[in-house]
Amino acid sequence: MVDLKKIEQAVTLLLEGIGEDVNREGLKDTPNRIARMYEEIYKGMDEEAAEHLSKTFSVTSNEIVVVKDITFYSTCEHHLMPFYGKVHIAYLPDGKVVGLSKLARTVEVYARRPQIQEQMTTQIAEAIMEHLKPQGVMVMVEAEHLCMTMRGVEKPGSQTVTMATRGCFQTDPKLQQYFFEMVRR
Ligand code: ZN
Repeated sequence: MVDLKKIEQAVTLLLEGIGEDVNREGLKDTPNRIARMYEEIYKGMDEEAAEHLSKTFSVTSNEIVVVKDITFYSTCEHHLMPFYGKVHIAYLPDGKVVGLSKLARTVEVYARRPQIQEQMTTQIAEAIMEHLKPQGVMVMVEAEHLCMTMRGVEKPGSQTVTMATRGCFQTDPKLQQYFFEMVRR
């Protein structure tokens, strides 16, 4: 659970640290506002993918499922700055599928916490493997990191792409190819 009081104190210190007057009108409510915002953007810390992926449906034919362009917003754990973009997921079922919105919910579970993109990518793939037990899964994440584009090397618009493959997607290049074609179209 998020400790609102602690976050408020921390934000006050942070503002004092950069030399601000924390009592001026515009900043008066900022610590409380940020505390409540953090409750929302870090709410994945109190959630587990199992909540969303445990309710499955049986299928008789195992056709590939691709869900692309799932928008996400996360926070880089090194700078506490946003990184955001799209997640694309494909899996080849083994008799079981899950509601399509549940894949987006799974993305939220791992995006809404301090995170690194590479780790988020593998966590999504592994959660699907663990709970859905498909023949294989492939996850691709394309994101812009504000800690790279707003400061530091300052390369606006640069995208970081990460990928995770499990099961048949790891061993079958044709499936990977199919995934790329679906994502790029
Ligand atoms: Zn960063």
